[in-house]
Amino acid sequence: MNRYVIVGSGVAGISAAEAIRALDVSANITLISEDRYGFYSRPGLAYYLTGELPEEQLFPYTQADWRRLNLRFILGRAVRIRPQEHRLDLERGDSVPYDRLLLAVGGRAVRLNVPGADLEGIVYLDTLEDARRLVALARRARRAVVVGGGITALEMVEGLAAQKTEVHYLLRGERYWPAVLDESESRLVEHRLQEHGIHLHYRTELAEALGRRGRLAAIRTEKGEILPAEILAVAIGVRARLELAQTAGLETQRGILVDEFMQTSIPDIFAAGDCAQVFDPLSGQSVMETLWNPARAQGDIAGKNMAGQRTSYRHAPSLNVTRLAGLTVTIIGSLGTGREEDATIVRGESEAWRLPFDGITLHQSAEINRLRLALGKNTLLGALVMGDQTLSLPLQDLIFRQVDITPIRAQLLQPPTTLSETILHFWQALPTSSGHARETCTKTANSG
Ligand SMILES: Cc1cc2nc3c(=O)[nH]c(=O)nc-3n(C[C@H](O)[C@H](O)[C@H](O)COP(=O)(O)OP(=O)(O)OC[C@H]3O[C@@H](n4cnc5c(N)ncnc54)[C@H](O)[C@@H]3O)c2cc1C
Repeated sequence: MNRYVIVGSGVAGISAAEAIRALDVSANITLISEDRYGFYSRPGLAYYLTGELPEEQLFPYTQADWRRLNLRFILGRAVRIRPQEHRLDLERGDSVPYDRLLLAVGGRAVRLNVPGADLEGIVYLDTLEDARRLVALARRARRAVVVGGGITALEMVEGLAAQKTEVHYLLRGERYWPAVLDESESRLVEHRLQEHGIHLHYRTELAEALGRRGRLAAIRTEKGEILPAEILAVAIGVRARLELAQTAGLETQRGILVDEFMQTSIPDIFAAGDCAQVFDPLSGQSVMETLWNPARAQGDIAGKNMAGQRTSYRHAPSLNVTRLAGLTVTIIGSLGTGREEDATIVRGESEAWRLPFDGITLHQSAEINRLRLALGKNTLLGALVMGDQTLSLPLQDLIFRQVDITPIRAQLLQPPTTLSETILHFWQALPTSSGHARETCTKTANSG
């Protein structure tokens, strides 16, 4: 009987277990995780913070699902792989033998590197434990400071504001999330935050966290300004957890390098999800992303290959449907907004969005709605839809299927054409457009 060992109880690990069980009914599957909450929706944590989602709804699996999967769960940390002996050492002292091993260990929020970084009251948002802590702290706090760009920082801003905490959001540069948003999109988000009473501090970097008896009391900015605060919420990036892979000498760069079968540089060891760095044939580069759907798809492919069904992973255009300052935002494919200074990705992001593309960017805006298209020679390469989501599914479909848009290309380039109407009419007239069945990663959809 094959012994499959999976490290990590996130969506990648669970999808792999599902795939193995589907192919090998008698497989001996061991799942090891240091997270006592097991499997839950990480994107859903944002809604838990704002109080829109009760904790129970973060857990997608019922007891019956766990029984069906029929695996052995070990709560603990894996600390070393011995590839020659096919054994995995656990922190508690014992070791587990494996025939096939999957690393689905995810990523970890980048820690602050300023004086006072260890003070009580400094929080990150990786796990349910972190989210619980943030809510508990917010109940007692009067004021919080948030640092970082991207989705997670904003989720912490909104979560803290929902708990009636006064929130000061420090932006390192001139605007919000310049790595992915253009200026008009950033300004729209900032404006809505200000309307909700959030204090934005532009071009402001954190220099030091100041404490009293081990607890955060204030922060000092590089300009010398002191802001009293009981919470400092940090979302300055996420890095793949490489430490376990490195004990086995696996090849790594920013993530654990895997081939199209999710196989690492050592046979019988696979990697999937946020910890894996996967080759993207669309861009010709190995990209990192911290997105739910790719993690699930990669876990599934890894599980199939581990169980002997040779199946390759095709990197689809990266997609997230998320919420920024109350506005739904769909981001797909390549947008070419990447910048050197924002090299680390944050949660819910893909490096693929930042990659330059060969084509033209088109814009349309009306009130709180924004549409941005990355137009290639005869296909759409990427899109960002903010506000009205009528075009979200059509654009996902056109980009995923790489539909030839030559018939409307000239029209799209011809002002004063309404981009949205042109796209919508074209998509509705496509013979197979109704066949669009791709799953979107909306936060609520992830939660259950
Ligand atoms: C706050 C937040 C918001 C997000 N928003 C979005 C979003 O809007 N859209 C989107 O698509 N994605 C979003 N994501 C990202 C998405 O949730 C992740 O991409 C996805 O969960 C990755 O799954 P994974 O299985 O690769 O890793 P993880 O879910 O991180 O799981 C890793 C697991 O490995 C365990 N582990 C690690 N090392 C060890 C060890 N040595 N021993 C034992 N166990 C170990 C951990 O405890 C954990 O259980 C968000 C994530 C967070 C945290």
